[in-house]
Amino acid sequence: MSELNDLYQEIILDHNKNPRNWGKIDAATHFAEGFNPLCGDRVDLYLIVNNDKIEDIKFEGNGCAISKASASVMTTLIKGKSLADAAAIYNEFHKIITEGCDHNHDIDENLEVFCGVKQYPGRVKCAALAWHTLNDILKRNGTNGK
Ligand code: ZN
Repeated sequence: MSELNDLYQEIILDHNKNPRNWGKIDAATHFAEGFNPLCGDRVDLYLIVNNDKIEDIKFEGNGCAISKASASVMTTLIKGKSLADAAAIYNEFHKIITEGCDHNHDIDENLEVFCGVKQYPGRVKCAALAWHTLNDILKRNGTNGK
């Protein structure tokens, strides 16, 4: 559990235990599912997009603590945002998990929780699962991240 303690911190443990925006959306305009074969994590992502704005987002899934918590944190950051803003947040997240936080001067404080993920290569795909699934949806709209 020491790895968990270092990496996930309280916020991650909290999101894992009480995931935000958990569930299905029957009237979803967008749906995508993600799977991380390395760990067995699965995520189903439901969005209601109206006039390029993400009016609602929910998810369900099975997986390790980091995959679930990362999805939960993501929904809180994306909900209510425009598709372009969501793509920008995705890009910042992606930079953090691949490069860490050392070179980034203006990190959204809500993304700081992911700064340590890079140190655990086996966990990067877990943390990124929901975000890549979101990016699959953004790609369909032509506003995907890099
Ligand atoms: Zn995992």
